[in-house]
Amino acid sequence: MKITNVRFERSSLQLDPPFSPNWDPTPRRTFGATLTIIETDGGITGYGAGDDMGGFDGYEKYFIGKDLFDIEEHVRTLETITFHAGRYWPIEAAIWDAIGKAKQQTVAELFGGAEKSIPAYASTGAVMTAPERAASAKAIRDAGFKAMKIRVPQTQLDLGIETLKLIREEVGNDLELMVDLNQAWRMPGDTRKSIDRKTAMNFVDAAVDYGVYWIEEPLPMEDMEGLRSLRGRGTRIAGGEMVRTIHEIMTLVENDALDVIQADVVLAAGMHHSIKIAELAKSRGHIFTPHTWSNGYGLAANLQVTAGIGGAPFIEFPFDPPTWTAERRDFLMAEPMLVGSDGLLHVPAAPGLGIEPNWSLFKKSVA
Ligand SMILES: [Mg+2]
Repeated sequence: MKITNVRFERSSLQLDPPFSPNWDPTPRRTFGATLTIIETDGGITGYGAGDDMGGFDGYEKYFIGKDLFDIEEHVRTLETITFHAGRYWPIEAAIWDAIGKAKQQTVAELFGGAEKSIPAYASTGAVMTAPERAASAKAIRDAGFKAMKIRVPQTQLDLGIETLKLIREEVGNDLELMVDLNQAWRMPGDTRKSIDRKTAMNFVDAAVDYGVYWIEEPLPMEDMEGLRSLRGRGTRIAGGEMVRTIHEIMTLVENDALDVIQADVVLAAGMHHSIKIAELAKSRGHIFTPHTWSNGYGLAANLQVTAGIGGAPFIEFPFDPPTWTAERRDFLMAEPMLVGSDGLLHVPAAPGLGIEPNWSLFKKSVA
């Protein structure tokens, strides 16, 4: 089966009220998403999303006319393109979606079929007062989640500790708690200095008193030695979500800089490569569970790969009502992905990524 076309459909959602994530100094009033579409001569169309795919124009020719199933070749091609340009792994996601549809299997089955569901952690993004976040934790616990992640602004580390304290008072040990300091994230124009090693260590030492499952990006990923020095102090250290290459994440794994490896399959090192990353991580006693925060298609691709490989204790489920809901996150899909009262996120049963685009927003391919 040959790839006959690569095209993109863009849409955006108005956010009223706006969403103010910890990692972005500018409140978000719109949420844009790009559907990446792979058409074939077999009448099968694959869809993926994650990156906005800006600047991809002109690279379609490296995929058109190629065999859909030549995944190694497609991945090598994407590596040559991402060397110059954006994070174009949604192309790989759309290809896997088409392959799954052609083989009548879920992408999770194509990646090993280890699990059908994974416990979800509610990944919150907004900065709230400690009492507000404690109330949010109670609502998240009551909805069935077994874990949640909070964000801590780098200039308000004390607020993070106070928030952990109030959450524990509110929900006891009903929730595993993760904390994200976002020190490896940089929005364009955000030139603030990262926190330093000593400050990060003081935070880790204070947070472990409240039983924290992992602390994420306490330092930039370039500081491998600093990250490694934070391990073994009573919690896990997580990171790697936005690396640029498989080599970058493999270096972090080989040097035991992290306990939890989070390379996003549609933004960082791709889907196929995740098998090798997860394998190496497991062999060194580390956990592979990727970042999923882009949109519903990005979540679905990360879920499928992670469930296929198996062994992740939790999968990230971006969810922070009222300003980040499943409906907002998944607006480009026909139906939002939801977590049941058992706290599990299930792999959709349909072939490929298992999800349908929201056809009220996009043009259907003509087979
Ligand atoms: Mg993160």
